[in-house]
Amino acid sequence: MTEPLHINQDRLQASLTEFAAIGATPGGGVTRLAMSEEDRQARDLLRQRMSEAGLTVRIDDLGNITGRRDGTEPGPAVILGSHLDTVERGGRYDGALGVLGALEVVRTLNDHGLSTRLPIEVVNWTDEEGARFQPANMASGIMAGAFTPDELYERRDRDGIRFLDELRRHGYLGEIANRPGPATAYLELHIEQGPALEAAGLPVGVVEGVVGIIWSKVTIAGQANHVGTTPMTLRHDALAAAAQLIAAVETLGRETPGAVATVGRLSLQPNNPGVIPGLVECIVDFCHQDEATLEALATRLLRIADDLDAQRGVTMTIERIWTSQPAPFPASTVDLVADACQLAGYPAMRLWSGAGHDAMYMQRVCPTGMIFVRSKGGLSHSEAEYSTPDDLAAGTNVLFRATLVIAEAI
Ligand SMILES: [Zn+2]
Repeated sequence: MTEPLHINQDRLQASLTEFAAIGATPGGGVTRLAMSEEDRQARDLLRQRMSEAGLTVRIDDLGNITGRRDGTEPGPAVILGSHLDTVERGGRYDGALGVLGALEVVRTLNDHGLSTRLPIEVVNWTDEEGARFQPANMASGIMAGAFTPDELYERRDRDGIRFLDELRRHGYLGEIANRPGPATAYLELHIEQGPALEAAGLPVGVVEGVVGIIWSKVTIAGQANHVGTTPMTLRHDALAAAAQLIAAVETLGRETPGAVATVGRLSLQPNNPGVIPGLVECIVDFCHQDEATLEALATRLLRIADDLDAQRGVTMTIERIWTSQPAPFPASTVDLVADACQLAGYPAMRLWSGAGHDAMYMQRVCPTGMIFVRSKGGLSHSEAEYSTPDDLAAGTNVLFRATLVIAEAI
């Protein structure tokens, strides 16, 4: 390969527009919950577009759609994937870019009559968002052995509808033998969903890994009592203690390089203006790329709670309810994506993903890399989510170049 080839930006944009019409919201976004009628329409259209691009389409037991382009040899495939499902009133690019960008890579190979030594598989993962059936990323998680298919099948949405029934109803219950792979590598193109690339003035970024997350549920037991008759010195106010805890968590996040720390959920009892709050529950979220630092944050939370118990005469109980280990991508894949950036003509800024992706689980299956595209205002999971056509094409060009190298274009 001497002459640098480029993907077709207009065709990519038309493809994104075509899929954004399925589940389009009045505010310019998309609602396409996993295994909804809109998701089924988008899936059916994807299968059609994959077939038209010469891909052999198969559906597995989790509803994942895989389109395969054979290599000149039968070796393990280079998998390119992301998701077509969205959150409620989400954006046009979160997920769709990775699937339709991968399709554009295949179309560009076809345009130029290029073969690859290894096969290429384009994958649409089922239920990446976890907006309808929780938790998120279950289909790729099953590939990594983190969940069993039955765990996914039995999930129910808010209306009590079972995932397996929806999968059957829409005709997306396939065979286990049809799962993606075996894989030599997994690449995912995605919008950044954060402000780092915009701040740096760069269109694309090379992702070094997905941060780890710990959720701790803190239950604060104080003493409910009459607000008028209880002197300030004799109170055990659970909400006032929670306020101090929240402020301390925020400080911890600010003072730990690379960390973010949030209390995003809080409930109190009896939640009555005439009663000193007797019981508070809140969830503390810590994210960090380094496992030891992440664990240190969780340990610091225990100490903060002990101090507040002593100061305020309350009892804080901490229960860890969710841990997602940091998923660093291998240096070889990160370097390869960085080289692809340079080849495509963009500086290769490196950054971590603060959001979960299917790549996080695929990293347990095969060497994995991600490419981020600048998000306007760092916004995602929002109808206002936006990336310029130039930036979307830049990211897809990097995906194309990285694919040519790993799949060994001939
Ligand atoms: Zn996504």
